[in-house]
Amino acid sequence: MSSLRTRQPRLLFLIGLLVLSFVLTTVLAYQAQVAARSHRDIAERTLRDYAAFSAYEYGVYVKDVLSNEVSSMLFVPADFGDNTSTRPRRMPWASDSGEAHAPCTGERVDSGYFYFRVDMATGEMPLMRGCSSEAVRNWIRDTIPSHVRAYMSKSYWDYMGRVVGRVNGEPRLAAFLVQRDESGQAVSAIGFVTPFRSFAKGVFRAVHKNYPLLPPSLVGKTPNDSLISVYVSDTAGRPLYQSAVTYSSNYMGKAKLPAAYGGMIIHTALRPELAEQRLLIGGLPRSRLPLLLSLVAVSAGLVAVSVQQLRREYELGRLRSDFISSISHELRTPLAQVRMFAETLLLGRVRNEEERHRSLEIIDQEARRLTHLVENVLQFSRSERHLTRLSPEPTEIAGQVSDAIEAFAPIAQARKVSVRAELERGIIAPVDRSALRQTLLNLLDNAVKYGPNAQALTVGMTFEHGLVRLWVDDEGPGIEIAQREKIWDPFYRLDRDANSAVAGSGIGLAVVRELVTQHGGRVWVERSKSGGARFVVELPGASRATAADLSTAAHEVSAESSLL
Ligand code: ADP
Repeated sequence: MSSLRTRQPRLLFLIGLLVLSFVLTTVLAYQAQVAARSHRDIAERTLRDYAAFSAYEYGVYVKDVLSNEVSSMLFVPADFGDNTSTRPRRMPWASDSGEAHAPCTGERVDSGYFYFRVDMATGEMPLMRGCSSEAVRNWIRDTIPSHVRAYMSKSYWDYMGRVVGRVNGEPRLAAFLVQRDESGQAVSAIGFVTPFRSFAKGVFRAVHKNYPLLPPSLVGKTPNDSLISVYVSDTAGRPLYQSAVTYSSNYMGKAKLPAAYGGMIIHTALRPELAEQRLLIGGLPRSRLPLLLSLVAVSAGLVAVSVQQLRREYELGRLRSDFISSISHELRTPLAQVRMFAETLLLGRVRNEEERHRSLEIIDQEARRLTHLVENVLQFSRSERHLTRLSPEPTEIAGQVSDAIEAFAPIAQARKVSVRAELERGIIAPVDRSALRQTLLNLLDNAVKYGPNAQALTVGMTFEHGLVRLWVDDEGPGIEIAQREKIWDPFYRLDRDANSAVAGSGIGLAVVRELVTQHGGRVWVERSKSGGARFVVELPGASRATAADLSTAAHEVSAESSLL
């Protein structure tokens, strides 16, 4: 008992350790997940930085290319054709003596390129080429002098200006050269106005196509449009340019150009799958969550299995210790009987021959019970260690059953129990005789133990299709259907018997099942005709004997000495 008391806290301690290790695994998995998440966050942030960098680079190149385009137009000597709606190769600056044209109107209002000279002080336009609406000319008069005053210094080098603004909702680019007097005062500006969208479109496209927006060491020869899409809008968010491809992505960058370039906003987006592969060494770290979750689940499963095993072990330990105490208990009663009647005989306390005989009978009967008990324990221990060895030999079954019943008679008589045999002679089956005897004795013993006094037991037998069935019927309480499987388990006793005065250790039926199974047979329990229990043993390999068989079997049986 003391071992039991110490075992319980130990079990709890072990379960505690297992649970603790599971908690640790979960914490580790959580930490790993947090680390992986932050690793992923850093990687994603890096890609967003690359996107922002590409937007910035795009802006730098757009500025450069726009400036170059504008200056190449401002500085090339003039050569006007008639068609001023297409882009001229040269500007009319060679001489500024060009006469003032009357602004043309009608269909050709706002030709592609409108050339002008504007006086800084008066806003007059002494020189004009191409067509323009009144609104465009007013815009030139309002915007250019104030832009020069506000943004351009008097320095000798600061002579070229660009303004992007909206006229009647349409963005326009004005590019001009400032002419100054000797004191550096701006006198006039000469230049052109053109719709910004069409002017810049080629630039946007060319930059997207030809300029490296990300370091070539990273992207190699991957063309920009396979990796980056571009969208340019004006300050109010109205679209100015959209690249042929558009990637929907989390990796987006934004850059804004200065006011002199119309304050355009550049949006770039990186193509996710390629960016993750090309721009990050080893690619974007994949989420470890499913793996970690399954590891936690596996460790939870392992902990559950271990706890289950521990509980089973604990339960087994408890059963063993119960077993030892119940077996000792079971041994004690017959031993006390044997000692008592032996003493009676030794001290000559018997009054007559009949009493003497009766005492010897009791000693014999209790000694048989002890032998039977010890046999059961030994057999059980052998089967626990998988050491059950049987030597089946052809046996006439009815004869063996009769012998067992005979051997059992003293125990039955003590409870005034009658045993009736309904046996079919001449059936032979390969059985280990002592195993068969032990099986029957266990069943008979249980029938007597759990049934009422003076009941009638029936031992029956049938033979069919090579199977011989033996059964023992009693008039006891029977066994509920729900318990009919469990009673065969070692140490298992029905509740009603576990706490009763009927001594038992719960191994009798386990031994029966083991012995019958070793023969390739089956055992089960059902309801007997009288409402008690019917224990059935079925053995294979049976056959009807020939006369010759019978004589050999009979001979062998008579030569055998009975243990009981
Ligand atoms: P034991 O008899 O030592 O308790 P067994 O393994 O022989 O162990 O039997 C297991 C349990 O099955 C018994 O404790 C009893 O509760 C029940 N049992 C066995 N045989 C009978 C029977 N003939 N009638 C009623 N209950 C029985």
